[in-house]
Amino acid sequence: MKCGFCGYEFDEEDANSGCVSCPLSSGCNKLKCPRCNYENPPEPALVQKIKKLLKRIGR
Ligand SMILES: [Zn+2]
Repeated sequence: MKCGFCGYEFDEEDANSGCVSCPLSSGCNKLKCPRCNYENPPEPALVQKIKKLLKRIGR
C-alpha cells in the first residue's frame, strides 16, 4: 500500500503496527508507514480486490 502522507510504498506486513499500547482495544488496524510513521487507515477489502485484479492483468 502507499502512505497517504509521504507516498512511500510498503507492504502491509512491513508496516509498523498501530497503537499497540492503545487501551481501547487490541489494535485499531491502522498501518503505520515505516518511513514517516503516519497512521494510514487500512485499505478496504474492495480496494485490495481491485488491486489484485490489476496485478493479475499485469498493468
Ligand atoms: Zn509515510
